[in-house]
Amino acid sequence: MTFEMIKRLYTVLICFIIYSSAVGQSKTVAITLDDLLVAGASGYTIEEIEDVNDRLLGHLDKLDIPVTGFVNEKSLYIKGEIDRRSEVLSAWARRDKLTLGNHTFSHPSFHDTKLEDFKSEVLKGEIITRMILDEVGKPLRYFRFPFNSAGSDSTSKASFEKFLEEKGYVIAPMTVESSDYIFNTLYKKAKKEGDKKQMNKVSQAYLHHTDTLFEFFENMALETQGRSIPHIFLGHVNELHADIMPQLVGLLKKRGYTIISLDEAMKDEVYQQKDPYVGKWGFSWMHRWNVENRIDWLRKEPEPNQKILEDFKMLNK
Ligand SMILES: [Zn+2]
Repeated sequence: MTFEMIKRLYTVLICFIIYSSAVGQSKTVAITLDDLLVAGASGYTIEEIEDVNDRLLGHLDKLDIPVTGFVNEKSLYIKGEIDRRSEVLSAWARRDKLTLGNHTFSHPSFHDTKLEDFKSEVLKGEIITRMILDEVGKPLRYFRFPFNSAGSDSTSKASFEKFLEEKGYVIAPMTVESSDYIFNTLYKKAKKEGDKKQMNKVSQAYLHHTDTLFEFFENMALETQGRSIPHIFLGHVNELHADIMPQLVGLLKKRGYTIISLDEAMKDEVYQQKDPYVGKWGFSWMHRWNVENRIDWLRKEPEPNQKILEDFKMLNK
C-alpha cells in the first residue's frame, strides 16, 4: 500500500466517523396538531375550515413530513354538512405520512368531567375517525387529553388509563408546546384587519418563542434525562399554522431536527415510563417525569413576551 493510498483511506475513515457521529446525534421531533377540524371550530364556516386545512395540507405535502392530527368529532356533526366535514379528515388520512388520533368528542377537561362521562367522550369521539382510518388501512392508536389534563386523582387516572389500554389506545404525550393559541388569536385578528405588519410581528414572535422553548427543553432533557430525547411538539390546526408551517419546520431543521412520526418517537424508552403527575395542569411530560424538582423547572419555563401576553389579555377582556 502506497503512502497516498493510506492517506486516502485515512481520510475516508475520518469522514465516516464524523458522519456517523453527526447522524447519531441528530435531533428528532414528532409534530402533532390538535383540535381538528380546526381550533375553535364553532366560529368557522365549512368553507373556512376547508380553506385552513387545504393550506395546511398543501404545506405538509411540500414539506413531506409526518404529522398526527387529533380530532374532536363534535366539529363534524353539523346538519347537512357531515359528509363534507368528514372529507376534511379523509384528506388527512389519505396522505401516506399523515394520520389521525382521538382528542375526545367535545374537548372537555378530564379535571371537570366525571370518569364515566369522560370515557363516553372517547367512544363518541372515535366513530367517524375510525371508519376513515379503516378505509386507508391505518390503525386508530393515539389518544390525547384535552388541555393535557390527564387525571386529577390517582384512582380515576388509573381507571381511565386502564380503559384506554383495553380500547387499544396509547396516550400521546407532548414535550414541547409554545402557546400557539395565544399567538393565533392575535394573528387572526391582525389578518381580519388586513394588518400585514402586525401579522408578521406576531408570527415572528411565535417562531422566536417556539425556538426558545426548544432550547429550554433540549437543555432540560440533558439535565434531567441525561441525554437528548426525541421530542413531541404540540400545536393546533389553526390559521397561524396554515400560513407559517414552512417557517416553523424551517426553524426546527435549523436547530438540527429531523421530523419523525409519532410512532417513531414513541419507541424511545423515555416514553415507556409512566406519567406520575396527578393534578389538573397540562404541562410538558418533561415536567411530569421530573418529580424531584418539578416546581423549579416549571418556574424556569419561558413565557411568551410581555407585549404578546398583554395584547392577548386585552382581547379576552
Ligand atoms: Zn385540544
